Amino acid sequence: MRKLLTGIVDFHERLRPQYADRFRDLAFAQSPDTLFITCSDSRVVPELLASSHPGDLFTMRNVGNLVPPATADGISTGDLSEASAIEYAVQLLGVSNIVVCGHSECGAMKGVLARNTSPETPNLAKWLNHANRAAFRLEHEGPLDDTLKPHDQLSQLNVLVQIEHLMSYPLVHDRVAAGELHLSGWWFEIATGDIYVYERTSRSFKIIDRHHADELIARLAVKGV
Ligand SMILES: [Zn+2]
Repeated sequence: MRKLLTGIVDFHERLRPQYADRFRDLAFAQSPDTLFITCSDSRVVPELLASSHPGDLFTMRNVGNLVPPATADGISTGDLSEASAIEYAVQLLGVSNIVVCGHSECGAMKGVLARNTSPETPNLAKWLNHANRAAFRLEHEGPLDDTLKPHDQLSQLNVLVQIEHLMSYPLVHDRVAAGELHLSGWWFEIATGDIYVYERTSRSFKIIDRHHADELIARLAVKGV
């Protein structure tokens, strides 16, 4: 707690003046263009990774960056928290991008692989069921990159499965079909600080460097999102 309190004082004295105008402009409204879905892991810091600022990202975090799929009528098969964040971001804020970002050495993915059903964490065990399709796919179809550790292989497949779960929401499906919403799968490698994006054509995660980022931006410009 001491570290947190010291950090608040540091923000107040050193950083807050730099953000004064931005916070004043954002005080009564927000218009982020991206819903960023990632893991609760303390090593994943979306604003730092994407050099983003207050007002840029609408963020939804949970253990394992999971999105419980929807039934045919668009109601979540999990609890309502994730679905509410999706509806708020897409319907009310009108974001044009949703990013699902997994990461290396994810404890949730290790738990899925270990089929962790510890009686001490019954909620966690049930929650991780939303990643079971990724585990099934890893077992039956194999990894996207066999040089990775098994839990990292699972983590990459899990990103793709959660994007499929997103598409089970009619709200998301319809906007994607209309070209108004773009879904991306990202993967963060903690040890190197590199971020990768899934490329459907090569069925692999490709590092986002300056050259690849320029390509992606050009592609998005064509799509108008
Ligand atoms: Zn994680």
